Amino acid sequence: MTAISSAITEATKRLARVSESPRLDAELLVARAINMPRSYLFAHPEDSLDQPARKRLETTIAQRLAGEPLAYITGSKEFWSLDLMVSPATLVPRPETELLVELALRDIPRRADWQILDLGTGSGAIAVAIASERPSCTVTAVDASREALAVASQNARQHDLGNVICIAGDWTQPVRAQNFDVIISNPPYIRTGDPALAALKAEPIAALIAGDDGLDAIRILARDCSSIIAAGGLMLLEHAPDQQRDIATELSAHGWQAIETHRDHAGNPRVTAARHSTGQP
Ligand code: GLN
Repeated sequence: MTAISSAITEATKRLARVSESPRLDAELLVARAINMPRSYLFAHPEDSLDQPARKRLETTIAQRLAGEPLAYITGSKEFWSLDLMVSPATLVPRPETELLVELALRDIPRRADWQILDLGTGSGAIAVAIASERPSCTVTAVDASREALAVASQNARQHDLGNVICIAGDWTQPVRAQNFDVIISNPPYIRTGDPALAALKAEPIAALIAGDDGLDAIRILARDCSSIIAAGGLMLLEHAPDQQRDIATELSAHGWQAIETHRDHAGNPRVTAARHSTGQP
């Protein structure tokens, strides 16, 4: 018989090889193996894991050791204090992406009934966070992947949000006839062949890579969003820290103004904000 506490200790040791948070991962996997919330572990450290639970734990530890993100194994990830469903069809929401939400909410008045657009929504993390904080706004969430969009709709339903509209399509293509007060995107922005990709191989490549300089998607957004933004509207783009200058150049070439880059919690330039005064390129 294995006690919960020793199962956690042993799993923590093994997971240290692949995880930056091995203890947390171990706890979440043990909790999942016994089908109990994590809090149960601390109240019942001496409970023992039966044979089927030990087997379930071993399977998920092996998945994690093979490089699968914990969020894909558990099927969920917390973002903006919301429990979100994720699948291998979507990126795992990152804490730094909460900066996009924070900046959008700073701009959108509490009772506004604005039109908000989230391009490349993936799991719907950004759209769902904003829709839950601004119930009078309508948030349109677009993604080229129907599998990802199914996850986004599920997340909107799970949180009882009637103000999220999910549409399949390539960037602005399905919303060309509309106008938005705020446009947000966490597009792919990693360079082809970037060594950092080795650690991201479980995640959908189309959500990560954007050409030789990582700017292919951002170039499309700078160009095409200028014709669907309301006059004076705000666009917020997530990017890599070293892309700040190139993005500013790209944005001003398409008439964007008041271009300003914000730092994430780790101090890295992460989100560039811009406004468009005319609604036309
Ligand atoms: N922020 C992610 C990473 O570098 C990349 C996400 C993206 O390309 N949008 O791990």
